[in-house]
Amino acid sequence: MPSNPGSHEIRAIRGAWLNPVSDESCEYFPNGILLVQKRNGWWKIKELGTAKELIEKHRLEEYRIENEAGLLMPPFFDMHFHWVQDEVREMPKTSLLEWLVKYTFPKEEEFSDPDFAEEKAQCFWQRILSTGTIGGLCYSSIHKTAFEAAMRHAGDYFKVGNVLMTMNSPQALKQSKDEAIELNRWASEGYGRFHVGSPRFAPTTAPEVIAASAGEAKSFGGFLQTHMCETHQEIEWVKSIYRELPGFEDIETYIEIYERTGFLGPKTVLGHCIHLTDAEWKLMAETDTVVASCPTSNAPLDERGLGSGLFDFRRADQEGVRWVLATDIGGGPYLSMLDVMASFVRQNRAQGIEGATHVQALYRSTLAGAKILGIDSKGSFAEDNDVDYVAVKMDRESLDASDAEVVLGKCLSKTLDNRESYESAILKTVLEGKTVFSC
Ligand SMILES: [Zn+2]
Repeated sequence: MPSNPGSHEIRAIRGAWLNPVSDESCEYFPNGILLVQKRNGWWKIKELGTAKELIEKHRLEEYRIENEAGLLMPPFFDMHFHWVQDEVREMPKTSLLEWLVKYTFPKEEEFSDPDFAEEKAQCFWQRILSTGTIGGLCYSSIHKTAFEAAMRHAGDYFKVGNVLMTMNSPQALKQSKDEAIELNRWASEGYGRFHVGSPRFAPTTAPEVIAASAGEAKSFGGFLQTHMCETHQEIEWVKSIYRELPGFEDIETYIEIYERTGFLGPKTVLGHCIHLTDAEWKLMAETDTVVASCPTSNAPLDERGLGSGLFDFRRADQEGVRWVLATDIGGGPYLSMLDVMASFVRQNRAQGIEGATHVQALYRSTLAGAKILGIDSKGSFAEDNDVDYVAVKMDRESLDASDAEVVLGKCLSKTLDNRESYESAILKTVLEGKTVFSC
C-alpha cells in the first residue's frame, strides 16, 4: 500500500528511538520517527529513521506527528522468573539452598489458596507490565490454583509452568510422581503453547517426572525450563542424589541427568549454568539448549543476590550456546530488566571481563528472547513488526548522545543504593499499538 500521510491509518511517533540489532549493533535516533501503519486491523511498523528524513520522504505534516518523551526501546522479555516469589525478593540471602528452605518454599505454600493466588496474580501481572516486560518464561508453584490464576492474568507472550516437585521437598510442596505427571499433562493439554514444562530442578524432581514433562512438551513442540549448575554445593548435592538412582549411578556431570531424561533441546531454557564443565558446554552446544542468565540473582550478597557466581557469556559465545538475560525473581531482587542489564555490565566490568556492553545487554533482554521464543514480530523495530515499545524516564539533555552505547550507559547508571528505582523508571508500555501501562 503506498504511503498516505493524510490517512488516519498511519501514525508518526517522534522521540529518541533505540533499535537493537545484535550484540554489537543498536541503532539510535535521538530525534527519530517511528512510522506505523494499520493493516487488517493491526498496527505494524512501516519505518524507523531520523525525523528529518521521514518528514521529507513522506511529506508528514507537523500537526499530525505525535511526540513521545523519554528513551524509547522495545519492551523486554524476561526469560526466567518465578511469579510466586514476588514477596521473597528482598528477603535476606545467604546461599541458594538455605534461602529456598527458609523463605521461598513457605511463601510458595500459600499459593494453594485460590483466593490468595487470584489476588496476587491480579497485582503481579499488571505490575510486570509497569516495568516494561511483555513476555518470557515463568515458574509458578506446584498448585493448579496458582497456575490457573497466572493463566487468567498473564499476557499472551508469557509462558508459565507449574513446578514439578516429587522429592527432597517440604511435605506441603511434595507431589507424588503420578500427581506431578498428571498435573503437567493437564496444563499442557489445556493451555498448549502458554504452558512450559517446568521440573523445579533435578534434586527435587524424580527422573521419570522430568522425562514425562520432556516427552509431553516435545510431542507438540512446547517449551521446557529448569535450573542447572547454579552453585557448587547444589551440583555436589544433585550428583550424590542421582548416583543412588538406577540408570544414573555413573553420572559425572549435572547435565547428564537432563540428557538421559530427554530434556535438552532448542526449546529448553536452563537457568543459571554458571559452573559448567567442558563436557557440559559441549553438550549444551550439541543439543542447542539455551541458557537464561540471571546476573542480579547470581550477584554477590552485598548486591542483594545469592552470591552464586558470574555466567561466562564469552565462553557461551565461543561454544555457540545461545543465551538470554532474566531477573529470576525472587532470587533476583528487582522485577526490572533495566536492573538486570545494568548488573550484567557492572559485574563483568568489576571482574575485568571485557566485552560486556549496554548494547549487548539490551539485545539479550529484547530481540534475543523474542527469537528464542520464536516470536518473529517482536523485539525490535524492524519493518512489519508489531508496534511494541517502552518509554524510559530520561531528561532531554541526556537523550542527546552520539550513539546507543552512550545513551544506554546514561540510562543504566543508577547507583547500587538506588537500583530499586529502575522498577518505576518506565513512563509507558505499548503493546501492539495499545498503551498497557502509563504512569
Ligand atoms: Zn529460578
